Amino acid sequence: MNAPEKHSFQAEIQQLLNIVIHSLYTDKEIFVRELISNAADACEKLRFTQASGAAVHQAEIAPTISLTADDKAGTLTITDTGIGMTHDELVKNLGTIAHSGTKAFLKQLAEEKKPDVGLIGQFGVGFYAAFMAAKRVTVESRSASGEPAWVWTSEGAGGYEIAPAGGDVARGTKITLELKDEAKEFAEKSAIERIIKRYSSFVPFPIELNGDKVNTVQALWTRSKSEIKPEEYDEFYQFIGHDHETPLLRLHFNADAPLAIQSLLFVPQKNWETMGMGRVESEVNLYCRKVLIQAKSKGLFPEWLRFLKGVVDSEDLPLNISRETMQDTSLMQKLNKVLTTRFLKFLDETAEKEPETYEKFYAEYQRFLKEGIVTDFTHKEALGKLVRYESSHTEKGKTTSLADYVKRMSSEQKEIYCLMAPNREAAEASPYFEVFRERKFEVLFLYDAWDEFVMEHLREFDGKPLKSAEKADLNLDAPKKDGALDEATGKSLAEWLKSTLGDQINEVRVSQRLVDSPAVVVDADKFMTNSMRRMLKALKKDEDAVSPTKLDLEINPAHPIIVRLEAARHKDLAFAGDVAATILDQARVAAGVMEDPRALLKRMNTLLERVLA
Ligand code: ADP
Ligand code: MG
Repeated sequence: MNAPEKHSFQAEIQQLLNIVIHSLYTDKEIFVRELISNAADACEKLRFTQASGAAVHQAEIAPTISLTADDKAGTLTITDTGIGMTHDELVKNLGTIAHSGTKAFLKQLAEEKKPDVGLIGQFGVGFYAAFMAAKRVTVESRSASGEPAWVWTSEGAGGYEIAPAGGDVARGTKITLELKDEAKEFAEKSAIERIIKRYSSFVPFPIELNGDKVNTVQALWTRSKSEIKPEEYDEFYQFIGHDHETPLLRLHFNADAPLAIQSLLFVPQKNWETMGMGRVESEVNLYCRKVLIQAKSKGLFPEWLRFLKGVVDSEDLPLNISRETMQDTSLMQKLNKVLTTRFLKFLDETAEKEPETYEKFYAEYQRFLKEGIVTDFTHKEALGKLVRYESSHTEKGKTTSLADYVKRMSSEQKEIYCLMAPNREAAEASPYFEVFRERKFEVLFLYDAWDEFVMEHLREFDGKPLKSAEKADLNLDAPKKDGALDEATGKSLAEWLKSTLGDQINEVRVSQRLVDSPAVVVDADKFMTNSMRRMLKALKKDEDAVSPTKLDLEINPAHPIIVRLEAARHKDLAFAGDVAATILDQARVAAGVMEDPRALLKRMNTLLERVLA
């Protein structure tokens, strides 16, 4: 037998190996992923060669991958029946720089404070990760070309040796790792099984471990949609989503431009955040050709889509990404934009085609959509299409989209109106609603404290401004009622009220929008509404948020109380003053900005005494 040939590694490879061998990297287990992914590549190459009609050695042997964890011997063996390597390929592939990746990887390792060896595979030097766990690596390989088998051996430092294997070796490659003492765990079957399940569940060739099949789930996302049964999707979801329920929504889509993406996304039945589980984390995993690159990938979707589960596979992941910088790369941003846009479009389509399913989704996840509107400018328009509200034109409990609202708008209506209220009854009884009821303008009823901010951020929909009903500059176009105060009298009463109420109020004016109520308070601040004040007060964000000087009082010149107050103030000034204060109090109560109701009670009592006298 010939003496083994001695080779030294190319300088960069040796440099890389020195780093890998002494690496304190905690996720050493990724070397298993790298070796399995090489084995899968070799199987893929074999399949390709066969498909192209070329003859291969031992064509009857199907491509498979098998591992043996031997805890007695302290070894791990990875065998594949793939394409194999000739003598020259062993030299070329496992000793010289095949790609520019090696240099790029070395550069990155040198630059980073905490070098991320985990990305080694992305740089095209995954094989060398074996030296994190092994003190000696033996590669026995027989090429599909039929060339006799060779054995490649290395202890990392000091190069490698190649010798003929001798005997009748089957086609493919067998890699034996003699594990370092501190890496003996990788000779445990259970440890290897866990690692395979984590990283290599979707490798498209059967993987056996000590004789048992390990990967049973297919990379469903790479198959054609028309061939996949709903049960298969559900099973897949349950596997990757760790959920025993079926998903509420599912989106399977492929794109070629601007990026090659294969993606399968799911929305769980339940929103786990409202289930008291705390903030959920996105469970969308990033794959590159079926091999896990990053679990729970950050940056793949905006934060407000963190309820999604699933898989994104892109072949376009470049070599020079690291876990920390992944979020910032323009590629990641592109992926994010494409995926988010597509998902929002999908929601819109679902709302159209399956309104009941969408309703269920909305009930669970509306908070996330609203969070998106408030925090993310990019997708505001698409999100605006997805919100739903009860309105004066819907039945109680039924909702409308903004698009449908706009369709119903008459030509004289220029704005979309919304009214914050605790519930439908309160909204309909609100003095702010009166003018809309009279003019038959639709008003959206917002019951969720968030909605005010949502409207603030949306600003407009379909070119129509969103306007708070409290702030709407609308007049009744009904003819003046009999007995109503004329303009001059109304004005002088307003002036008297201002002087009587003093700095409890900013301004008093005659209203053109009240029907049933004697008066309302309107925020003097153009951008503030009463409901916002209530919220600010609750949050104690603004000390004088409810300061009365910030309110304007509007009076209804046709209301009997106002008409009689005008008469009373010329007869009994003290009494009229009490009535004026009570009118203001009641308007504050109606607006929900009454600070201290006790003062109101005292005045009411005075008035009652007088009535009963
Ligand atoms: P990459 O897989 O990105 O090319 P690796 O360092 O993992 O980088 O592997 C280097 C090369 O070694 C591969 O491109 C392949 O040609 C060869 N190789 C590694 N493992 C095998 C195998 N099991 N069967 C055949 N060739 C292999
Ligand atoms: Mg590889």
